Amino acid sequence: MSELKLCQGTKCHTYHTQDRLKGTKGNKTYQTRRRSSFYYGGGNFCSLNCQTDWFDDFGDRAIDHFGRTTQAKHLTEDNAWYKSYDWNSNYDNRTYVIRNGITREQRPLTEQQYNDSNYTLNTGE
Ligand SMILES: [Zn+2]
Repeated sequence: MSELKLCQGTKCHTYHTQDRLKGTKGNKTYQTRRRSSFYYGGGNFCSLNCQTDWFDDFGDRAIDHFGRTTQAKHLTEDNAWYKSYDWNSNYDNRTYVIRNGITREQRPLTEQQYNDSNYTLNTGE
């Protein structure tokens, strides 16, 4: 059996749900959820509520630690290509394209290119 993880939510143990209530009669406590995996926050939180609780308590400090965005980032023409397909084409005979979100230029794409996650016309990050 794989190791169980604890929810990192700072208030997880304060939510009154039956699955959090543990222990024998006269000695029961609400406890932080423990699971083999979680769906939220990169597998660290049992619920969106717990993720939000954590962010409310630590989010500002985490952003400052890893670097706060202080200037708007720019996505230039060189990197504005995205894959798409003709929404009017039917599934068996789909027309794939690569489209530039700024210039609106559109080029044909093969199905292989569409499905190749490495294929792009973007030149940088
Ligand atoms: Zn939780």
